[in-house]
Amino acid sequence: MAMGVIGLASCGTAAESQCESEQPWIVDRFDDIKVIRYEVPGFENLPLEEKELIYYLGEAAKCGRDILFDQNFKYNLAVRRTLESIYTATEVREGEEFAAFEKYLKKVWFANGIHHHYSNDKFTPEFSEAWFREQLALYINEENRQIEDDFLCQIIFDPALYASRLNQKEGVDVITESANNYYEGVNQAEVEAFYNGMAAADANNPEPISYGLNSKLMKDENGKIYEKVWKIGGMYTEALEQIVYWLEKAAEVANPTQREVLEALIKYYNSGDLKDFDDYSVLWVKDTKSNVDVVNGFIENYGDPLGRKASWESVVNFRDEEACKRTEIMAANAQWFEDNAPINPAYRKEEVKGVSAKVITVAMLGGDCFPATAIGINLPNADWIRKEHGSKSVTIDNITYAYDKAAQGNGFAEEFILREEDRERAKKYGKLGDDLHTDLHECLGHGSGQLAPGTKGDELRTYSSTLEEARADLFALYYLGDPKLIEIGLIPTLDVAWSQYSDYIMNGYMTQLSRIEPGKDVEESHMRNRKLIAEWCYEQGKAENVIELVKQDGKTYIVVNDFVKLRELFGKLLCEVQRIKSEGDYEACKALVETYAVKVNPELHAEVIARNKALNIEPYGGFVNPEYELVTDKNGKVVDVKISYPANYIEQHLKYGKEYSFLPTLN
Ligand code: ZN
Repeated sequence: MAMGVIGLASCGTAAESQCESEQPWIVDRFDDIKVIRYEVPGFENLPLEEKELIYYLGEAAKCGRDILFDQNFKYNLAVRRTLESIYTATEVREGEEFAAFEKYLKKVWFANGIHHHYSNDKFTPEFSEAWFREQLALYINEENRQIEDDFLCQIIFDPALYASRLNQKEGVDVITESANNYYEGVNQAEVEAFYNGMAAADANNPEPISYGLNSKLMKDENGKIYEKVWKIGGMYTEALEQIVYWLEKAAEVANPTQREVLEALIKYYNSGDLKDFDDYSVLWVKDTKSNVDVVNGFIENYGDPLGRKASWESVVNFRDEEACKRTEIMAANAQWFEDNAPINPAYRKEEVKGVSAKVITVAMLGGDCFPATAIGINLPNADWIRKEHGSKSVTIDNITYAYDKAAQGNGFAEEFILREEDRERAKKYGKLGDDLHTDLHECLGHGSGQLAPGTKGDELRTYSSTLEEARADLFALYYLGDPKLIEIGLIPTLDVAWSQYSDYIMNGYMTQLSRIEPGKDVEESHMRNRKLIAEWCYEQGKAENVIELVKQDGKTYIVVNDFVKLRELFGKLLCEVQRIKSEGDYEACKALVETYAVKVNPELHAEVIARNKALNIEPYGGFVNPEYELVTDKNGKVVDVKISYPANYIEQHLKYGKEYSFLPTLN
């Protein structure tokens, strides 16, 4: 629900423009992807026990990689393993077919499966089935065959089979039409009936369980629907046992508070009981003191069309003290922001609790945060825990820094920003505006507001993620332009906000379309949210020319003419979006999303793609992880942990496939 990719972070780079760093920031480029390396400043100076802790948590993060592959699609591990076998064995490593095959494999690694990580559409291979069958005959035998050859070829080459990982189109059965592995043999009506029943039985529980979060829903041989739980001794046990092994090592070197948190997580992995997960989450959210922190578990539900099942992910991190001053100011003023939100007072939180916000340095990414990752995190997701115990909110500074470095000099601003004054403002205040937007979105936006009595929180169904992201973004955008931010020392001038406003509208209305394939609609909830906000504001402000579409030399530009009026529109939309959430108004939510967030203007779409292509900018970015190595003395005692920065995307994934792959091919 709340871990989002926020801010633009979508600009690529021309490789030739990286002159200032001794090592290029972009380590690989293929299709619509650029792979960036990130640095971990400050790691060397951490005390030994924290370095060791990061090492163990990092190992745990890598051990869950197979889980995500399997969650994304039942046959992903079969495909990946077969491709890797061929890739490492084949002697002919040139020619068009091989190049296309290598590109396909790189895409599968990046997406953790055969469906695009963002659009959810199945990849179209550019190598021929005939060539691939030759490779199968040459290199796949009884020992390394994962699934039957004909079926494997159908999976890869038949465009109609398993076409989308996540199909949320209006009017389709979102369960049977989605190829993810969260459900099997059940349809949408059955799933909804199953979980509505559980929720009804839990209706009066002030601490409602997040039913369905850690299991696959399927039918037994008698047609009875049941949950196959992801836990030690259950589904994914082979990987979870490894994760727990490293978590236990981590607990040994952790401080007492953190040890208690890690032990609660281990207990949950053993029991699979979602009450244990809530207990763990409460302990986790309360630990705001420890320098090192970790997200590890079944956390975000974006991959499930009904928003119940959570994908496995991990982010190992530690505090960036200097940058934390920014979010501490926000947290200290959290109640003021809540009390002044431009929404119905009944839907404001009377008392904002436990807003803890920090800026972190990521040390290891795993599962659904790798290679593509969010740049902000706000957890836990359970509404009642957020209300009773607060939430932890972070901005990931070394990742945004790497994005920024990788995008320098790529020509994006010159191509898409019409006015010189807007370009200047973006250059001067763009990074600060992006960072503060992320901080406000995560630190205050998601945590703000409350539900009306009687609203459960699941009324908005498939539209809930989009609406929730819109709510957090609008909160951030509205307050970014508030003079209060100057008063409390977060920004030197409102130009920081105006630069973010121009950027946001341009991205939401136009430039993010480069991520959508021609002919497709917008599906992903963060993208839908940005489009919704940009288009709604454009339309509402039309009479006063608040936002203007300009045609010049055959190119389309979008410019903001009146920042103050735009801010009022953000406030007005926030009020309505909060009302919809608080009241669980499904019909209003559906109308808002379907009107503004989904349908793409085909001409504008084609234009954006062409202009982006001419700049040679890949719309998506992801990362290679650093590597850590324990240094021991002659008695085997750990005396240091060394960090290094590999710069080879292929090698890293082959290594992970070899050393961190624990699941059977079919689970
Ligand atoms: Zn978010």
